[in-house]
Amino acid sequence: MGPQRGELLRKELEITTFRDLLEHYPYRYFDRTQIVKINAINANTEFVQLAGTLININEEGEGRKRRLVATLYDDTGRIELLWFQGAQWMKKNLNDNEAYIVYGKVSFFNGMPSISHPDIEPARAENMAGSGLQPMYPTTEKLRVKGITNRSFAKITQSLFEKIKPGDIPEVLPPSILNEYKLCSRYNAIKWIHFPDNNEQMQLARYRLKWEELFASQFMIARLRLQHTIQRGWKFEKVGDKFNDFFSKHLPFELTGAQKRVLKEIRFDTATGKQMNRLVQGDVGSGKTIVALMAILLALDNGFQACMMAPTEILAQQHFQGICALLQEMDIPVAILTGTTKGKERKEILKGFADGTIPVAVGTHALIEDHVVFKNLGLAVIDEQHRFGVDQRSRLWNKNETAPHVLVMTATPIPRTLAMTLYGDLDVSVIDELPPGRQEIKTVHRTHMSRARVMEFIKKEVNKGRQAFIVYPLIEESEKMDYESLQEGYEQVKVWFPEDKYKVAMVHGRQDAAERQRNMQRFVSGEAQILVATTVIEVGVNIPNATVMLIESAERFGLSQLHQLRGRVGRGGEQSYCILLTGNKLSQEGAKRMNIMVTTANGFVIAEQDLAMRGPGDIHGTNQSGLLKFKLADIVTDGFILEQTRIAAQKIITEDPGLTLPHHQLLKTILSQQGKQNNWSKIS
Ligand code: ADP
Ligand code: MG
Repeated sequence: MGPQRGELLRKELEITTFRDLLEHYPYRYFDRTQIVKINAINANTEFVQLAGTLININEEGEGRKRRLVATLYDDTGRIELLWFQGAQWMKKNLNDNEAYIVYGKVSFFNGMPSISHPDIEPARAENMAGSGLQPMYPTTEKLRVKGITNRSFAKITQSLFEKIKPGDIPEVLPPSILNEYKLCSRYNAIKWIHFPDNNEQMQLARYRLKWEELFASQFMIARLRLQHTIQRGWKFEKVGDKFNDFFSKHLPFELTGAQKRVLKEIRFDTATGKQMNRLVQGDVGSGKTIVALMAILLALDNGFQACMMAPTEILAQQHFQGICALLQEMDIPVAILTGTTKGKERKEILKGFADGTIPVAVGTHALIEDHVVFKNLGLAVIDEQHRFGVDQRSRLWNKNETAPHVLVMTATPIPRTLAMTLYGDLDVSVIDELPPGRQEIKTVHRTHMSRARVMEFIKKEVNKGRQAFIVYPLIEESEKMDYESLQEGYEQVKVWFPEDKYKVAMVHGRQDAAERQRNMQRFVSGEAQILVATTVIEVGVNIPNATVMLIESAERFGLSQLHQLRGRVGRGGEQSYCILLTGNKLSQEGAKRMNIMVTTANGFVIAEQDLAMRGPGDIHGTNQSGLLKFKLADIVTDGFILEQTRIAAQKIITEDPGLTLPHHQLLKTILSQQGKQNNWSKIS
């Protein structure tokens, strides 16, 4: 391959070595035995492969709506193909009246089927001949424009295979595992995934490679767990005055059984002399904050400092205020450090952390910056962990000579497979009980047609002295448009709630932190009855007097996000409501999401459904965490393999923690490769 094409591959797909090329796996296979006739497409058809002749290749529309339209016909019917991006290039490379193979997702418009951005290949003899399965490779617009097509990938991979021997792709899994789980060799797997002779080879290859990927992550996690168990930690020997005083005199309510149980687990962990790494999982409103605060008091009683880290400024502020209020009568200095803490104030706070005069630190990730020094940090609480990468969690380790105990709190119940992958190294506590007196939130789905009635309903609630959230979606790609509709929405809300009688506050991500804080505060204090917001209020915010959550364009939110938003109400004793407002026409999936929300309040059910419907990437902001970067494996559909690999990994670590046995030497390759990809070493 020439230098120019080489450069393109490096830039576009980060393919820099033979190995990268070999691991640039096909995402699908073109199987010429699987061609469907156009007239067989019906309303239930999802993905299809068609063969036909292309005609009427035309550009249509103006400006942003410009698109390329073409018609494909076979002996049974015709279907429209559409390209919204790269229309010009497609037009140049498609030939009128030529035969093509087309693959893509069918959608219907006015009852007529069409496919947008299909995979399209000339139906040349070479594409139609040979074994049934031909690899289709992921590629980019730019590569295609420069002529590096699917065919090119197949060709360069093929010629690479002509140059290598089985020994060039060495095995990394021990024979015992290959036998037990019936895995083919690494060489065969790589060869077959690119050039399978038949479906069976392809399946064997995919299974083996997914297995290896998931095993590598589970193996690292098992090692990490092992390290946690031997990691020396501070010993919290006693339960002292601060904890006991708070418990007996200042606790504003009786703890739930679940809260007590989790506290016991924390007390036990922190008294062993080993480092605690515990995840507290509890649905929104289950009362995680108080558990964290009591763990903090426990640290203080033993002469340590403690910090509590939140993912956003607003949440940090709220924790700060909440903690200050609870500790009001106890004379315990608490300070907050965020990106907006500046100048003299910042200096004094940093000094207080360093000399130990401020024992409790609340803040955002500003707390983990290197120049923030503690005299004696014994406990770090991380709230709403999924906004923090594993890497950030690991940075706490350096804050004291011995790593502080770590308590991670997460509100979104995590499906089991995801938890295994993300938090597999942590011990888990579950708060599976809501504080008493909570009423179930009534959730309804309404369309724009009922807007007037919805607004009247909110007015009634507000006139009773309650408060309401009105949330707008904000999705990056259409950000500008979203802000416009947010502004419009705000103006409309003010028409329903005129300023002489009502106060409406608005918060969104484009305000600077101080302004956002001010507006939020107007709502928190009760001065404003309505808060118009984007999802910046999604996590954690606690306003017991708010009884209505109206979600605009609810179809644009994912399930877990809707559940999080709904959890913002129903926190006081009053009946609360969640109204999901959508357009009249909903996609099948959109309708299903609304239905799930209306019929269940169970966060675990919702999280499972969300994972199944959307895939893991979106849900927990896990993309950044680096833990879920699998090339082939999908933790939703490959849960079974994940389970196998977890068992296998644990077994090896238990039998041979130091990896000294000869047949385990291969595994060190996996460790060093994983280490390069993810910065695991930092964690321990
Ligand atoms: P989350 O688990 O979502 O972080 P919070 O800790 O914010 O929940 O608690 C939600 C609300 O429930 C707060 O107003 C808190 O004071 C209250 N709360 C927590 N525990 C109890 C309890 N045992 N009894 C009554 N109210 C409680
Ligand atoms: Mg919380």
